[in-house]
Amino acid sequence: MPFTPLHMGPGILVKAVLQGSFSLMVFGWAQILMDIQPLLVMLTGEGHLHGFTHTYIGATLIAPAAALSGKYLGDFGLRILQLPQHIPIRWPAAWLGAFIGTYSHIVLDSIMHADIRPLAPFSESNILFRVISLGDLHLFCVIAAIVGGALYFAVNAWLSDRKDAGA
Ligand SMILES: [Zn+2]
Repeated sequence: MPFTPLHMGPGILVKAVLQGSFSLMVFGWAQILMDIQPLLVMLTGEGHLHGFTHTYIGATLIAPAAALSGKYLGDFGLRILQLPQHIPIRWPAAWLGAFIGTYSHIVLDSIMHADIRPLAPFSESNILFRVISLGDLHLFCVIAAIVGGALYFAVNAWLSDRKDAGA
């Protein structure tokens, strides 16, 4: 299913741990870019729903596009959201957000969808399919978002406390 917000759950958890070293904006942008192809298939009724974009090779090619465009879009978005303390998104954070974004997308979709062939063209297999149930997968993503959100603010407060103490 294109544009599921569930993909953001693990991203929020990673953000909580890596803080400023990881761009959640670019991660989210990568989720959108990954699902443009399935969306077009749904709209036109033609092509393989989870086709080339949903392979590890496709994800490797989409990640640079997500980093290069997402850094500037993210800076723009942060300006609109009036969060100047997070601008500019640093390039390493953009690249990390993009690659973790596209690869985690493949992992989650591999568990979710029967038609995905993540290892194509080398293999037609998908060993992750329903390795856990859909219900458990959704629960994991929701819990990751909640725990990640709480952890993000806790780590953030701890870091700024340390900074204040050191100043
Ligand atoms: Zn997808």
